[in-house]
Amino acid sequence: MDFTVLTLFPELVAAFFGHGMIHRGIERNLIAGKAVNIRDFSCDRHKTVDDRPYGGGSGMVMKPEPLEEAISFAKKRTPEAKVILMTPQGTRFDQKKACEIAEGMKGLIFICGRYEGIDERVYTQLVDEEISIGDYVMTGGELAAMAIIDSVSRMIPGVLGSSASSQSDSFIDDRLEYAQYTRPEVFNDLPVPGVLLSGNHEKIRQWRKRSSLQRTFMKRPDLFETQAPTAEEKKILRQWCRELETLVNQ
Ligand code: SAM
Repeated sequence: MDFTVLTLFPELVAAFFGHGMIHRGIERNLIAGKAVNIRDFSCDRHKTVDDRPYGGGSGMVMKPEPLEEAISFAKKRTPEAKVILMTPQGTRFDQKKACEIAEGMKGLIFICGRYEGIDERVYTQLVDEEISIGDYVMTGGELAAMAIIDSVSRMIPGVLGSSASSQSDSFIDDRLEYAQYTRPEVFNDLPVPGVLLSGNHEKIRQWRKRSSLQRTFMKRPDLFETQAPTAEEKKILRQWCRELETLVNQ
């Protein structure tokens, strides 16, 4: 998977590519990442990339020509890559989208806006998809592009290494991940649930399933609307109901 980020702040993105799991994935040639400065594609001697909006109004708008040139440059590196415009007006990014990209795409070229945004003709002519990371407005698209690269990369086999897995992550199968514990066995008088120390793999699996369901029910009940409970999940939920009933009837 090859990521190219078109930005006015390449150092910000280069630092991200130089750290943690993403850096390790790049070193192992599992992913590639490049930050490209949009300003390098401006043709005038002042290296202008923005201008005043037609019709008036506050702020500046990013000009289309440097972006077109920057996209052409990126496409020469990865002709099969999709061009993604980061915008709060785009389709909301989520875990399913991350899986879809990781499984089905070879490369992405991100356009990171700044100022008041980007000339409309870039949207209509040069972009394959518009993506938002949430219903809020940030000062630039870099953090949004990095959030997407980060979550897509950890779905690519080998990036997390053999010791970590994305298979039990929250939102896989529309459920939140189960509760996790590590040493010490007792912390502030709170012990680790005994079953996790039992070594019984089936019991541990069942406990985790129940924990995942309980957390989903308490924190994100809306996820049950996108994915109805399976037969096993219904059984666990019924058991939990019975236990709650016993508790309230005491
Ligand atoms: N005036 C624009 C609007 O209301 O739609 C917002 C422009 S914002 C200040 C500048 C840039 O930040 C955008 O062009 C986009 O690249 C990026 N951006 C801001 N919020 C974002 C979000 N939630 N998701 C993705 N990109 C975002």
